[in-house]
Amino acid sequence: MDHDDLAYWSKRAADWARDYHRTLRDRPVRAQVRIGETAAKLPAHAPETPDPVEAIFDDFCRIVPDAMTHWQHPRFFAYFPANAAPASMLAEQLANAIAAQGMLWQTAPAANEIEGVMIGWLRQALGLARHFTGTIHDSATTATLAAVLTMRERALGWAGNESGLAGQPVLRLYASDQGHSSIDKAARIAGIGQANLVKVPVDDTLALRPDALDALIRADLAAGLRPAGVILSVGGTSVGGTDRIAESIAVAKSHDLPVHVDAAWAGSAMICPEFRMLWDGVDKADSIVFNPHKWLGAQFDCAVQFLADPRDQIRTLGLRPDYLATSGEDRPTDYQEWTVPLGRRFRALKLWLVMRAYGLDGLRSRIRNHVNWAVELSEVIGGMDGLRITTPPMLSLFTFAAEDDARTTALLDTINDDGRVYLTPTRHAGGQVIRVQVGQFDCTRDDVMMVADVLRDLRA
Ligand SMILES: *Cc1c(COP(=O)(O)O)cnc(C)c1O
Repeated sequence: MDHDDLAYWSKRAADWARDYHRTLRDRPVRAQVRIGETAAKLPAHAPETPDPVEAIFDDFCRIVPDAMTHWQHPRFFAYFPANAAPASMLAEQLANAIAAQGMLWQTAPAANEIEGVMIGWLRQALGLARHFTGTIHDSATTATLAAVLTMRERALGWAGNESGLAGQPVLRLYASDQGHSSIDKAARIAGIGQANLVKVPVDDTLALRPDALDALIRADLAAGLRPAGVILSVGGTSVGGTDRIAESIAVAKSHDLPVHVDAAWAGSAMICPEFRMLWDGVDKADSIVFNPHKWLGAQFDCAVQFLADPRDQIRTLGLRPDYLATSGEDRPTDYQEWTVPLGRRFRALKLWLVMRAYGLDGLRSRIRNHVNWAVELSEVIGGMDGLRITTPPMLSLFTFAAEDDARTTALLDTINDDGRVYLTPTRHAGGQVIRVQVGQFDCTRDDVMMVADVLRDLRA
C-alpha cells in the first residue's frame, strides 16, 4: 500500500464512515457479541505475504462494526460521552497525514503554537481568570498524575525527584470518596500510597465537607505527617458529586496546600455561563483538568489542564537532555516539560477545527439541550410506577432505580439486551442504581425520550 492507494482507500473509508454514521440509529448501541467471538474470526498468525487491501477492508466490514459498542450512537447514554464531532474527525485525519511527533517547538512549530492559542481560547470560553495557562494531555488520568507528582515534589522541596522517597516524610493527599479512581491511581504511582489518600467525608449533597477537611489536615499535622495537596471534584463520575470549590480551596490555602480540580466531564459545560456557579471559586485553584474528549466534541484523546503557574510542574516533570537542545536565545514553550510523556500528538488541531466549525454558541446550545432533555426525561421516569429517581440531574447526569437491587439489575440487563439505548450501573447510598447521561453530539430530544419508551415497553 503506497500513498496513491492511501488516497483511494481514504475516500472509500470516508464514504464508509458517512454511511456508518447515517445508519447508527438502526444498530444496537451496545455490542451484542460474546467474549472470544471476534478473536475466533482472526487467523492465529500474521500473513507472510501482503494481503490485498480490498480483502482487508472486506474483513473490517465483516468483523469489526458489529462487534463494537457504538460510542457515537445518538442513544449512547452510558458512562460519559466520548464525542467525536465530524470536524474533529477531519482534524485527526489531517494530523495523521502529517504524523509529526510534537515533543519540542522545533519538531512541530504549528502544533506547539496552536496548542498555546487553543488553551487561551478555552480559558476564555470557560470564563477562567486571565492568569491561567495550560497544556493538553492524553487523558485526565495523566493530567491528575502530573498534578499529584507536582504536589509531592513541592511538599518535599523537590527532594523526591533527586533522592527517591526512602526516608522522606509521609505525605498526605485529600479528596472526597466521590473522587474518580484516577486520583487513587495517581497516589499509588506517585509513591504516596493509597493509604495516604485521605477520603474526606461528604455532606448530603455529596460535597466534601470543608470542616472535615480542615480537621483531617490538622490531625495529620499533629501526627507528624506532611499534607501535600487537595483534589476536588466537579461532576464526579458515579452520580455527579460536586465539591464546594470556594470553601474547600479556602481551607486548603489556609494550610498553604495546592489544589487540583477534576472537572473531566463537567468542565465542558462551563462554556455556558449559567453553569459556572457549580465551580464558583475555581480561579483560586492551582490546576484544573477537563476533557474536551468527553462532552465538547474533540474526540479521544484530548484532556486540557489549566495551570495557575506552570513553574512547579515544569520543575517536577521537565528534563532537557543534550540531545533535545534547541538552539537560539528565546526558548519557546516546550510542552513536553509540562507532561509525563515526551512524545506529543497534534491534539490542538481538533480543538481548533471544533471551535471554528461549530462556534462556541453551537457547542453551548448542544450542552444546554442535553441538560434540558435529561431533566425532562428524569421527570418522566420519576413518574413511572415502580421507578424512582435516586439522584437528581447534575447537569445532564441522573440515576434511577426499580423497587430493589435485584429488580434494578434485571431491568438494566433487559434494557441493554434490547439495544435501543445503552445505560450503565453504579451504586448510590448502598443500593444499585442505573445511570443516565445525555451528551452525544448528534442526539435529539426523540433519542433521549426513547429511554422512557423502552422502559414502558419492557415493564409492560
Ligand atoms: C472520565 C473521568 C476521568 C478520567 O478521564 P480519562 O481521560 O479517561 O483519564 C477522571 N475524572 C472524572 C471526573 C471523569 O469523569
